[in-house]
Amino acid sequence: MHYDGMTFRPPYEAYSLLLQVTRGCSHNACTFCSMYRDTSFCVSPVEEIVDDLVEAARDYAYARRVFLVNGDAFCLSTDELATIADMIHESLPRVESIGCYARIPNVTAKSDEELALLATKGYADINIGVESALDDVLAFMNKGYDVALAREQFARLHKAGLPFNVNIINAAAGPARIAEHAAANAALVNEARPTLIFVSPLHVDPGTPLASLLEAGRFEECTLGQYLEEEIAFLEGLTLEDCVFFGLHVSNPVPVHGLLPRDKDAMLARLREGMTRIPREVLDSHPAKGSEGRLR
Ligand code: SF4
Repeated sequence: MHYDGMTFRPPYEAYSLLLQVTRGCSHNACTFCSMYRDTSFCVSPVEEIVDDLVEAARDYAYARRVFLVNGDAFCLSTDELATIADMIHESLPRVESIGCYARIPNVTAKSDEELALLATKGYADINIGVESALDDVLAFMNKGYDVALAREQFARLHKAGLPFNVNIINAAAGPARIAEHAAANAALVNEARPTLIFVSPLHVDPGTPLASLLEAGRFEECTLGQYLEEEIAFLEGLTLEDCVFFGLHVSNPVPVHGLLPRDKDAMLARLREGMTRIPREVLDSHPAKGSEGRLR
């Protein structure tokens, strides 16, 4: 299989076949993101995808889900995505669905008919890094869209029958705005009705614009304790039915995972209890990419 530069997938796609259709991210400019900084964006040649599918048909014939990598594979045109789906189904007849990372502008660029076509081709539970429901935070993160545009695209995806997951970065608005950020995020996600919500803290990676902004005093980072406060407030505000809440990333200080609304109280109890078990010096430290300070 071809995997060039950095390759990422959401934790819950661990059992999906990863098929590279682009390298890097077509945006590659979010303030906090270091994922593809050193990988130039380009689209994989069709011959390369064909070769990978021949290999997959030989070695992963049991695959039921394919996740297209890398950063925002949904940036490909509808024709390209439809052709790739046809090739996947022909090579791997057991595949039931196809996912990928998608940016809000990738959705905007497709008509309602195109989104509906992609749904019929098996695209489902595409992963959208929404991150925040506050316009100034989205602008600060340089996400390239505002909340109104995101809201509109969620409605279009539902209308097209194309389900999606969302990522929310709790504590991204800083310590003074924990309640405001949690309430705005919960309201947006309640309206969006995703299949799954992936929550994680904002961590400042060296070499990112966010690291420079932090150093220049233009951004105040939340502590792990403040992150947990916001995660609890966010989860309290969710009124969703039949939605997975996924907080199992290595950067989540208290791992929680469950189905809403069934497991909401149990997850809240675990988060609250976690805050009492984590040593104060860890709660007062800042979120990191790894698992330091994480409860088992
Ligand atoms: S769209 Fe995603 S992968 Fe691309 S720069 Fe932003 S966070 Fe990183």
